[in-house]
Amino acid sequence: MPETKTAPAVPSDHIMAVYRRTPLGFVRGEGARLFGTDGETYLDCLAGIAVNALGHSHPKLVKVLKEQGEKLWHVSNIFTIPEQEALATFLSQVTFAEETFFTNSGAEAIECAIKAARKYHWANGQPERVDIIGFEGSFHGRTLAAVNASGNQDYLEGFGPPMPGFVHLPYGDLDALRAAVGPTTAAILLEPVQGEGGARSWPVEGLTEIRKLCDETGTLLVYDEIQCGLGRTGKLFAYEWAENAEPDIMTIAKALGGGFPVGACLTTAKAGKGMTVGSHGSTYGGNPLAMAVGLASMEELVKPELLDHVVQLNGYFNQQLSGLRERYPDVVEEIRGKGLLIGIKLKTPNREFMQHARDNQLLIAGGGDNCVRLLPPLVLTVEEASEAVAKLEASCEAARALLPEKTGA
Ligand SMILES: *Cc1c(COP(=O)(O)O)cnc(C)c1O
Repeated sequence: MPETKTAPAVPSDHIMAVYRRTPLGFVRGEGARLFGTDGETYLDCLAGIAVNALGHSHPKLVKVLKEQGEKLWHVSNIFTIPEQEALATFLSQVTFAEETFFTNSGAEAIECAIKAARKYHWANGQPERVDIIGFEGSFHGRTLAAVNASGNQDYLEGFGPPMPGFVHLPYGDLDALRAAVGPTTAAILLEPVQGEGGARSWPVEGLTEIRKLCDETGTLLVYDEIQCGLGRTGKLFAYEWAENAEPDIMTIAKALGGGFPVGACLTTAKAGKGMTVGSHGSTYGGNPLAMAVGLASMEELVKPELLDHVVQLNGYFNQQLSGLRERYPDVVEEIRGKGLLIGIKLKTPNREFMQHARDNQLLIAGGGDNCVRLLPPLVLTVEEASEAVAKLEASCEAARALLPEKTGA
């Protein structure tokens, strides 16, 4: 009989070497706390990269998962799935969407959005409209179409020729966008607040202008709200900070399942009109287990008191982190982002800073442009927020201690 092995303390050689993994694991989570295999308790301010919006082991999600787990996990989309109808109906009540396609991940929701946008124009007798205009610093996932949509050279290199039909412009540049939209443009794809790119937000008035531009040119407006959506910025969706800026198509995922893999591509009836029987599909997407958890998660995320709490915490963090920037101008360059998608742009290496934070039992995410990101569960308490700030201060102190000494200081 083979001997039973316990999990190794060091990262295994048998996992594809695509992740830079810290030799730290967890055995249990509760709210914003994670209990490490090292016996330490961590304050989780990355929440599985904006996934565990309701914290770990949320009682309602655990209950629904258990109940559905004992009833029915999976059938097939060749059958009617009442749980799926329920979540799609709920989404149509709280968003612009009239139709939803369910996926298992964010990247798959992006795939569906790109296909839907191109198929829309094809169905309209304009098959030449295939170009997707995206923006520098964006992140739309890791499938081939998603990395092409993001345009990040680091993620494209070595994977063959770049796909045609993807254009990239500087983020926030409305003039460049106006100049770029033309007869072959299918859609504009953007994150109202960039996540991986380093918590940069598109100026809100700009979104209203983009909506107008799309209406004038028959271009579809696609928001990727996979990270910034679902309450993260203090509105249910980040674009709601702007007036009259509704999209035609929107992708969501991450917080939608609260940790259960589920994503969705939402469309208006008009924008979804090209997606007819046979156009698209997924084996797992929208299965009863995922849908039950997704609905329970959505019911919590739409609560006005939760959104108010996010706005309140944002005010607290902004004030405290500005103070930190003033006290550590040699470490902290800029505070940015929206709601609880907060970016701290550093002058010292961000990976080192993440380690300092871990040394203080605080978990934070990295980000582009030498940022670290705070993406705590939306249910973080004010006390926990203040604890996070104290740990960030200790991390700034540790980062400063590593700086070369200044002459005359
Ligand atoms: C995480 C993320 C994705 C990709 O989601 P996956 O579930 O990893 O495929 C796409 N867009 C944005 C904005 C994201 O943050």
